[in-house]
Amino acid sequence: MKALTWQASNTVSVEEVPDPHIQEPTDAVIRVTSTAICGSDLHLYEVLTPFMDKGDIIGHEPMGIVEEVGSAVTHIKPGDRVVIPFNVSCGHCFMCRQGLQSQCETTQVREYGTGAQFLGYSRLYGSVPGGQAEYLRVPHADYGAIKVPNVGEDERYLFLSDVVPTAWQAVDYAAVPDGGSLAVLGLGPIGQMSARIGKHLGYRVIATDAVPERRAMAERYGIETLDSSEDGVAEQLKDLTDGRGPNSVV
Ligand SMILES: [Zn+2]
Ligand SMILES: [Zn+2]
Repeated sequence: MKALTWQASNTVSVEEVPDPHIQEPTDAVIRVTSTAICGSDLHLYEVLTPFMDKGDIIGHEPMGIVEEVGSAVTHIKPGDRVVIPFNVSCGHCFMCRQGLQSQCETTQVREYGTGAQFLGYSRLYGSVPGGQAEYLRVPHADYGAIKVPNVGEDERYLFLSDVVPTAWQAVDYAAVPDGGSLAVLGLGPIGQMSARIGKHLGYRVIATDAVPERRAMAERYGIETLDSSEDGVAEQLKDLTDGRGPNSVV
């Protein structure tokens, strides 16, 4: 199959690599139909070079069609459409049962003390081959794989792999009081989703970004925006919230 591989600092390339196959009863193999590129992938491109190996397959935001499942995988079957979250977690250890899947004790990378394994993300997260590839082996697919309906474009579901849960967690951790106000600083993918989630939860959301197209996108979802390239944005935020400033910030 073809896959996007890390070759050296600032160098990635599509290469022919061996097809993945089932190695554990809890595995699945999917044919990838869409995969997003993450801002975090930029860290692999340069700053995490000491933890990368030539030929590593990157990518951690995939979805696709199940090709094959191991004997312990019962909630999905070949032909199902699935989204694969970036965390590799078992679902049954102490940490997973607390809802702390990113610290899964079964897959934790203790050598580096970084937490659970993570698709396509360097030795720091277990050197698991990633999803910017034609096919992906999904470890712990008995827990992680999310089955989605066979209707609609991939973009309707793809962001369940990282962007939506990451943004949801950001807003949740911001602990906005009921009916309160939330400032979102920056309207990249996580900021856009955080703003929409804040609105969905009934908060007043004011977002800042220097890029007009990003502000326009947020405004289409009822978000108030400020141009962060202008002076005095902090004062403008205060003015918009009766001089007190927003209740919470993400
Ligand atoms: Zn990501
Ligand atoms: Zn676990």
